[in-house]
Amino acid sequence: MDNLVEIILATNNENKRIEILDIFKDNNLNRLNVLIPEEVLGVKIDTKETGDTLEQNAYLKAKNLFELTKKTVISDDTGLEIEYLSNFPGVHSARFAGENASDEENRKKVLDLMRGVPENMRKAKFRTIICLIHNGIEHYFEGICTGKILEKEKGLHGFGYDPIFLPDGHTKSFAEMHPKEKNTISHRAIAIKKLAEYLKNYFLIGNST
Ligand code: IMP
Repeated sequence: MDNLVEIILATNNENKRIEILDIFKDNNLNRLNVLIPEEVLGVKIDTKETGDTLEQNAYLKAKNLFELTKKTVISDDTGLEIEYLSNFPGVHSARFAGENASDEENRKKVLDLMRGVPENMRKAKFRTIICLIHNGIEHYFEGICTGKILEKEKGLHGFGYDPIFLPDGHTKSFAEMHPKEKNTISHRAIAIKKLAEYLKNYFLIGNST
């Protein structure tokens, strides 16, 4: 029997691990297991996100974990880029309204800045970068979901900026969608699918059971 291939994900967020494993399973990557740092190192790790771009932050998180484990590692970083705000908050999405800002405070800041901005100038996109370090070499996978910023919050599901983001081609905000529906079109899902495709080709384990 083939061995299980293990990848360590640079997060303390269990939901991210579950989302990645679900997408790996949908891609028949049944032999890939995803661990979080605590399971491998016995401690949580917290890498300071000091980069100026999503790519730099994803790399910093992956590199730190790779140096501690010397295993195959992945990390992700996501930002909401609003055209009218010169692609802000972008890499600053988590701390847009201040160092310890809540999701609600961050959303309020966006809504305040976008008050009165006409419909055709409310374009925005979520962008996720995944960094994989395998055999010491880094690879990047990007996922983008385009849409627009609503005038007020809609929906109760999700997290972060979900209640103020309407994805293109849909009538429901991310927060009005069931998480499974969001996960078929989201920026993160698109980036994870690209990673899954790469790993499938690399490990040639696509159809093993
Ligand atoms: P992180 O890179 O996953 O830590 O996310 C950075 C920031 O973007 C945080 O403020 C999150 O709340 C927000 N964010 C990330 N992904 C999403 C999403 O799918 N929907 C809404 N907000 C998100």
